[in-house]
Amino acid sequence: MKAIVILNPYAGRWQALKRKPELETALLKAGIDYELLITQAPGHGPELAAKAVLDGSLLIISAGGDGSISEVINGMMLGAASVGFDRLPPVGIMPLGSANDLVVNLKLSTNLNEAAQIIASGNIKKIDLGEVNKTRYFDNNSAIGLEPTITLIQQQITWIHGVIRYLLATLLGILKNPHWDIQIEWDNGIYQGPSSLVTTGNCPLTGGLFFMTPHANPFDGLLTFVYGYMATRLQVLRLLPRTMKPGAGSYVEHPDIHEVHSPWLKIKTHQPTPMHADGEIQSTAINEISYRIIPEVLPIILN
Ligand SMILES: [Mg+2]
Repeated sequence: MKAIVILNPYAGRWQALKRKPELETALLKAGIDYELLITQAPGHGPELAAKAVLDGSLLIISAGGDGSISEVINGMMLGAASVGFDRLPPVGIMPLGSANDLVVNLKLSTNLNEAAQIIASGNIKKIDLGEVNKTRYFDNNSAIGLEPTITLIQQQITWIHGVIRYLLATLLGILKNPHWDIQIEWDNGIYQGPSSLVTTGNCPLTGGLFFMTPHANPFDGLLTFVYGYMATRLQVLRLLPRTMKPGAGSYVEHPDIHEVHSPWLKIKTHQPTPMHADGEIQSTAINEISYRIIPEVLPIILN
C-alpha cells in the first residue's frame, strides 16, 4: 500500500507548491512508494488525513509547515475516533514551513532528503498530544493571553514578513501590556490573580524563536504550562530575550513566572481572551478553556 502524502501548497509563505518537485525527488530517492494529495483550502488537510486513516493507510506523510502538520494530526485523530486509536498509522514529516517548530522540537531534519531518509528508516515512537476544549488537538503549543494577542497583531501586519514581522508584533503586543484576571486549576494546585499569559506546551519551542514552555517534553505524559504577571512594560521587555533561551537563564526562572507540569488544567478568565492552538487562532474571545494530555497516542517517525 502506498504512503499518503498530504501537501499543503500554501505552507512556507506559499513556497511549498514550488518545492513539489524537490519533495517528490526526495521521497523517490528514499524509496518511498506514495500517493500525493494536495490540499485545496484550509480544512481540507484534516479531511484527507481522516480518510487516509479510515482507508487503513499504513503511513501518512505531512508535507507542509506547523499548521499543516497540526491539521493532518487533527484529521488522523478524527479518523481514529471511528476505527480505534490502536489503528492509527505513523505520521512522517516533510518540512516545508517557514518555522518548522515540531521538526526542531523532535530533532528531525529540515532538509527534505534527510527527512525522507528518516521516514524510510521507520523509527516509530508514540507522542503525547494536547487537547483543548475537547475539540482540538495540538502537537506543539496552545495559549491564551499575550501570545494569541501577538498572533492577531501579526496577522494585521502585511507590509513586512518573516522574523521581523514576528518581532514587531511581539513588541506591539508588549506595549499594550494586556493582562487578564484568571483562575487556573490543575491536578495539585490553583492560582487566582492577574496573568499576562497562559501558554500550554507539549513541546518547548514555538514561533520559531520562543521557548515558551522550556521544560515541556512530548513523551512525559504531562502538559507543561506557564503563567505569570509583570506590572510594567519594561519588565516584560527585559524578560523577552530570556524567552528565546531554552536552558539556564530562561524566563521561567524569574520569580514572577511559574512553569507547572500537569496532565490537565482548567482556566477561567474574567475578561475574554483570544486562544490559539498550534499557531491557529481558535477563538478571538473566550472565557473558559480546558486542557488535557492524551498520553502516547500518535505514532510518529523519529530520527
Ligand atoms: Mg509533556
